[in-house]
Amino acid sequence: MGRRRVAILGSTGSIGVNTLDVIRSHPDRFQVVALTASQQVELLARQCQEFRPEIAVVSSPDGAARLSKILLESKVNTQVLFGPEALVSAITNSDCDTVMAAIVGAAGLVPTLAAAKAGKRVLLANKEALVMSGQLFMNAVRDSGAELLPIDSEHNAIFQCLPDGFMGAVKNSPSHAGFGVEELWLTASGGPFRDTPIAELSLITPKEACAHPNWVMGRKISVDSATMMNKGLELIEAYWLFGLPLDKIRVLIHPQSVVHSMVRYRDGSVIAQMGQPDMRTPIAYGLSWPDRIEAGVPPLNLTEVGPLSFFEPNLDRFPCLALALAAARSGGAAPIVLNAANEIAVAAFLEEGLPYLQISQIVEIALNKMPNVPTNSLEDVLFVDKEARRLASDLIYRLAKK
Ligand code: NAD
Ligand code: MG
Repeated sequence: MGRRRVAILGSTGSIGVNTLDVIRSHPDRFQVVALTASQQVELLARQCQEFRPEIAVVSSPDGAARLSKILLESKVNTQVLFGPEALVSAITNSDCDTVMAAIVGAAGLVPTLAAAKAGKRVLLANKEALVMSGQLFMNAVRDSGAELLPIDSEHNAIFQCLPDGFMGAVKNSPSHAGFGVEELWLTASGGPFRDTPIAELSLITPKEACAHPNWVMGRKISVDSATMMNKGLELIEAYWLFGLPLDKIRVLIHPQSVVHSMVRYRDGSVIAQMGQPDMRTPIAYGLSWPDRIEAGVPPLNLTEVGPLSFFEPNLDRFPCLALALAAARSGGAAPIVLNAANEIAVAAFLEEGLPYLQISQIVEIALNKMPNVPTNSLEDVLFVDKEARRLASDLIYRLAKK
């Protein structure tokens, strides 16, 4: 087989940079054909100089002008585009066969869905896209024959622990049941505030929330890990990816982040995937599946890790996890509202001093206030997303004035 032609949506982020790091050691296997970023023009320029993609995309015309100038001066022949539609062009016009979907948040939905519709191998890091559009997204994958491979470490772990053919089997049918899969166990580190006295949570700063004990990640997902909204989004992600009922998907706190998730089978077997907390492992597996390639990750030494522990999450400490579970059970527009309100609240916590404990309050009020309308098209999804954002921003504005 020739080299895989890879497009990376969000190449300047934590997942994007790790993806390029894996690709860098395998020039015989992968060719980068498109890179996209929002604002980080200088980093994107350096990535273009190294990997020579056909297309590069940034958010603004200004950024595009700056990028074009740098690339022209360094004689790099990359076409520079800008704006949300250009993210889709990066996929449809680059003749890529593999798309790393690593934009953070709802901004990634349209291009990630476009990759699914175009029948690409979709390496899904952007869990928010699947949370928002679950049924539409899975239908697009099925209709186009796309290959959907999870990159989120928990889902990648479960994918590795499932039997061949499980992902393609018709969900909830007898053939699905024939695999003997009883439960999926998603592990969670519990974030930096797993043991912080609840009374002290009100004073948490963005810096403290972004200092994750085990993983280095972008700021939004770091805050989501602290509130455990991340695990709530992952629960919904797992529901769509693997097609098991919600009551068969459990969350276990596992502070060491060595077991990345597990599958419990009918015969009593539990299969776990273990490894370093390093995203290059799931990224490499997605890029090269079903082969395994060198990922640059040091070997796991279990005698150095020490004891591994597991316990149930406390939902009083992590109200966002309870809200996500409730939204998952309601279905329809609720997961879209959950995600949108959370994105607005987390941004306000990071940039505007919204108190940490109000993140879950904003999400809860938004879920209670927004009608749960059916969402049968991308337009419906985007409409609910926009309305929920407006409502959440309003709530934050009113809280700030009090
Ligand atoms: P990040 O903030 O480090 O990077 C985000 C990327 O998206 C950047 O390249 C940025 O330029 C781009 N971007 C942001 N807003 C955009 C917009 N409006 N339009 C176009 N591009 C935009 O985030 P990350 O930590 O790399 O996470 C990316 C995704 O992967 C998230 O959905 C996250 O939940 C998921 N994920 C991340 C990790 C991790 O270890 N970082 C693990 C599992 C899942
Ligand atoms: Mg994860």
